[in-house]
Amino acid sequence: MKALSYYGKNDVRVVEKPRPVIEHPEDAILRVTTAAICGSDLHLYHGLVPDTRIGHTFGHETVGIIEEVGNQVTQVKTGDRVVVPFNIACGRCFQCRLQMYSLCESANPYNEMGAIYGYSHTTGGYDGAQAEYVRVPFANTGPRKIPNEISDEQAVMLADIFTTGHFGADIADIPEGGTVAVFGAGPGGLFAMKSAKQFFGAGRVIAIDKVPYRLQMAAEQCGAETVNFNEVKDVVGHLKEMTDGRGPDSCIDAVGLEADGSVPQAMQGTFFLQAGAPTALIWALHAVRPGGTVSIIGVYGPPFNHFIPFGWAMNRNITIRMGQTPVLRYIDDLMERTRTGEIDPSFLVTHRLPLEQAPHGYEIFERKQDNCVKVLLKP
Ligand code: NAD
Ligand code: ZN
Ligand code: ZN
Repeated sequence: MKALSYYGKNDVRVVEKPRPVIEHPEDAILRVTTAAICGSDLHLYHGLVPDTRIGHTFGHETVGIIEEVGNQVTQVKTGDRVVVPFNIACGRCFQCRLQMYSLCESANPYNEMGAIYGYSHTTGGYDGAQAEYVRVPFANTGPRKIPNEISDEQAVMLADIFTTGHFGADIADIPEGGTVAVFGAGPGGLFAMKSAKQFFGAGRVIAIDKVPYRLQMAAEQCGAETVNFNEVKDVVGHLKEMTDGRGPDSCIDAVGLEADGSVPQAMQGTFFLQAGAPTALIWALHAVRPGGTVSIIGVYGPPFNHFIPFGWAMNRNITIRMGQTPVLRYIDDLMERTRTGEIDPSFLVTHRLPLEQAPHGYEIFERKQDNCVKVLLKP
C-alpha cells in the first residue's frame, strides 16, 4: 500500500509499505478515506519528538471504512464508516475507567504517556493513518460509527482537533460571560475559540497569532477580537489593557513548543531550549488575571521544561491544566452536536489533496502558504 513515511527532519515521502494485518483478536483494519494533517504532525516533521524512527507513518486524524476485523471485535463490522480517536485506548484499565483515555495503561509498552497513532515510539510506535490502510487496536473501544448526516470532512475533526479545542475550553474554567485569550489561531485554537463561546459561556474571546488570514478566520468564524503579536510591542501589557488592567479570566495555549515571539531561534540552543521556545505559555502565564486558569493544549516534548515563570504562577494562585485530549470522553456528545447542525466543524478545511501530495500538504501547512489552515489527505 501507499503510506507517508518519515525520512528525517523536514523529509516525508509517500512510499510502498506492507499492508497492516490483524495482530490481535481485538484489532480491525481500516481502509482510510480521509486523514488530516495536524499541528502535532509538524513537531514530528521538524524532528522534535523523541524516538521518531525512519519509515514511521504519521497520521492520527482518521476516517475510513472497516475492511477486516479480528474474531473478538463486536462493536464494528466490515463496511462500517467510522472516525477513529487519536488516542489508542483499551477502555478498561485504571486510567480508561477514569475517562483519562490519553493515559491508557495498556497501549504504550514504553512509558506512562499513553498511546497515539503515528506519533513516534515515544507514544507507542503505532503506524498512523496517512496511508491507504491502518491497523486499529482495541477496535471495540475506539472507532465510532458516523451517522449518515455527517460528512467525512466533518467527522475527521472529531478524531482530534475539534475535540482538542473543546477540551482546551473545558479545562480553562471559563466563568459565565468571562474573557478567554487563545494563543494560536491554528485549527486547535480556532476550535477552542468556537467551543469557548458556543458551549462554555465565554463572553469575549481574544485570538493572538501573527498570521493575518488565520486571525481573520478567528474574527469571522469564531467571533474573536484579534491581536497580531508582531504588531504590538508588549503582548501581555496589551491583553491587560483590553481587560480592565487585570488580564483575561482564562488563557489557552494552543501553540506548543514551537512558538515564535520573544526568544530568537538563534538563542534557543544557548538556553538549552531543545525544541523551540515556550513563548506562548510564558505570555499566557503572565497575562492571565490573578486567580485565573491557564489551559495548555499545545504540545510540549517530554524533556522540555525550561524558563517557565513558575513563581509568578504560584504567587498569583494560577490554576494550570493541560494534557493530550482524552477524545472518547467527548466524541459522542460532539458527534451529536455535529449531526444536529449545532456546529459545522468542517469550516476550517482549506485543502483536500490526494495522499501522493502529502509532502506538499506538509509544506504549505508549515509555511502558512496559500491561506492554509487545515489539510485533508484522500488516499
Ligand atoms: P498550527 O501549527 O496550525 O497552529 C499554531 C498557531 O500558533 C499558528 O497559527 C502560529 O502562527 C501560531 N503561533 C506561533 N507562535 C505563537 C505565539 N507565540 N503566540 C500565539 N500564536 C503563535 O497547529 P494546530 O493544529 O492548531 O495545533 C496547535 C498545537 O496544539 C500544536 O502544538 C499541536 O501539537 C497541539 N495539539 C495538541 C493536542 C492535544 O491533545 N493536547 C491535539 C492536537 C494538537
Ligand atoms: Zn493532533
Ligand atoms: Zn486503558
